[in-house]
Amino acid sequence: MAVKLDGAALAAKIKMQIREEAAALPRPPMLAVVLAGEDPASQIYVRGKERDCAECGVHTRTHRLPAEVSQGDLLALVEQLNQDEAVDGILVQLPLPEGLDPRPVLHALAPEKDVDGFHPLNAGLLALGEPGFQPCTPAGVLALLDAYDIPIRGRRCVVLGRSHLVGRPLAQLLTARDGTVTLCHSRTEDLPALTRQADILVSAAGRAGLVTAGMVKPGAAVVDVAMNRRADGKLTGDVDFPAVEPVAGFLTPVPGGVGPMTRACLLKNVLRASRLRQAR
Ligand code: NAP
Repeated sequence: MAVKLDGAALAAKIKMQIREEAAALPRPPMLAVVLAGEDPASQIYVRGKERDCAECGVHTRTHRLPAEVSQGDLLALVEQLNQDEAVDGILVQLPLPEGLDPRPVLHALAPEKDVDGFHPLNAGLLALGEPGFQPCTPAGVLALLDAYDIPIRGRRCVVLGRSHLVGRPLAQLLTARDGTVTLCHSRTEDLPALTRQADILVSAAGRAGLVTAGMVKPGAAVVDVAMNRRADGKLTGDVDFPAVEPVAGFLTPVPGGVGPMTRACLLKNVLRASRLRQAR
């Protein structure tokens, strides 16, 4: 039976450490959150992030904007937060309401306040293997593998999903750690032949039931990033958990796996942004 990769427990430990480190700074870190529109999932995510920050002594200021906000007003708010000396990190909750283009908004963020790691400068630094703000979900996956001493160097890693937020940066992080990475997507042919070679298999496709037991190499570490909403409202990943559990060596639950690690890595980025600004 696979060892459970317990993201919730690890995230709780990381948060305790962040709390101590935040308390040692001259002033508490400050995260500004921009939430446009009424998307119910986004409201839940933002509340969760506010709670995490409060638990760790990180201050938050959430700017709630109507769904009808104009692109120009949104950009003006980002610019104002860029200039605000009290703000260490800025998080623009995605997705934006229909009609708003997220790209100019993310491009407008001051890279040193880009705690989600989505600004092109931070994406470029990641591609070059240089230090910058790393996106929270891929960083969370790496932290989880490291906590369970799962080796990456020289191992075959297969990532399902090539989004700029998850799959692609994760492939870059695994490559930087000397993994041999195959990045798959919806046009990949014969997915099972590739996944069966994986020592580390990460699924971030957002397709419930995509990863079956027959696609998993015995003993592999299987990380399920996806959060799919079932008809009954419950969350489920991409991996057929009960079928894969007896085959895999390590397996993340959903929820309680990558989700809490993503949130912990956001806090890490806010702490880092604050520390860098306070040291200037
Ligand atoms: P996305 O932008 O929709 O990207 C999905 C990727 O999966 C695309 O690259 C797509 O390929 C690929 N894909 C779709 N069907 C596939 C299939 N049958 N086989 C192989 N690849 C397939 O999604 P995302 O933002 O990366 O998020 C992915 C999942 O992770 C979602 O379920 C999301 O909710 C979840 N998520 C979780 C966290 C967390 O904290 N746990 C954070 C972020 C996202 P194409 O490029 O060819 O379309």
